[in-house]
Amino acid sequence: MSVASGKVTGAAVVAGVCGQPIRHSMSPVIHNAWIAAAGLNAAYVPFAPAEDRFETFVDGLRGGAIRGLNVTIPFKEQALACADRCSDLARLAGAANLLVFEADGAITADNTDGPGLLDAIAVQAPGFDLSASPVVILGAGGAARGAAAALALAGAPRVSIVNRTFARAQTIATSIGGVVEAASDDQLDALLGEAGLVINATSLGLGGGPGPAARLELTPPTAVVVDMVYKPLRTQFLRRAEATGRRTVDGLEMLLRQAVPSFEAFFGVAPPAGVDVRALALAQLGEAAS
Ligand code: NAP
Repeated sequence: MSVASGKVTGAAVVAGVCGQPIRHSMSPVIHNAWIAAAGLNAAYVPFAPAEDRFETFVDGLRGGAIRGLNVTIPFKEQALACADRCSDLARLAGAANLLVFEADGAITADNTDGPGLLDAIAVQAPGFDLSASPVVILGAGGAARGAAAALALAGAPRVSIVNRTFARAQTIATSIGGVVEAASDDQLDALLGEAGLVINATSLGLGGGPGPAARLELTPPTAVVVDMVYKPLRTQFLRRAEATGRRTVDGLEMLLRQAVPSFEAFFGVAPPAGVDVRALALAQLGEAAS
């Protein structure tokens, strides 16, 4: 059944995104554009359950009410706890942004934020070798946690987390372990001097303010700088990195890439080629496509 005919029938596959708030989520725009272009009989809708009702909400979806759910702030940790099975990455990250409702009533959880980050780096900084040098993550919230787990699994030699609240960085380092460590502000300059990859996973810079004050000019010239913040698209942090000649990766690419495995899990096909979801997302953000 083609959506070109404008129909979502009783046989439609339904998926969605759940967060609180959810009004500004870009996921419905992205997934519904792919659904339309692929001619699927499907729909992708937003949900905003009350913060203390997430578990009840998810339990009600068991057994096939919908095919799956993306999960965003503040529910990613609860999403993992609700699941009966999870990927190694979701377990290591301690958070899930993808729930799939199996026909037998079970819930499977995964985390596509980290793979989205890695794919965005592959697209915007081609040839970058993650195994060659250490990583510095600024911030220790949910986004940092997912990134640290994926980077550790993907073979980064060291992942140092620097955060305003040191105890949160320590919590992540303890739960992921291995190459992931917490580092203090005092260590940051020395860490930047060796870093192959620097990631802003704080909310600093959101809405156009100055990003983290990290001295990006200390990084090796080959370093890649990522900003998870995507509003504005060219954050001050990315502009500073560009001014020092470093390659940059924007948060919008990460957002778009994390949606790909979710779409495949929900609808059983890859997103169709030829849909400029980046331009659609930029339009929603109020930015011109570049
Ligand atoms: P979160 O859990 O709320 O964590 C926020 C982080 O920012 C914490 O480390 C916090 O430090 C730090 N922070 C906030 N204000 C600060 C300040 N004034 N000075 C220093 N540090 C400050 O949020 P999150 O889910 O990790 O998300 C972080 C950012 O990544 C958000 O902007 C989000 O939109 C973005 N994000 C993007 C993607 C993507 O696909 N591009 C995916 C996920 C998240 P404390 O621990 O000290 O409070």
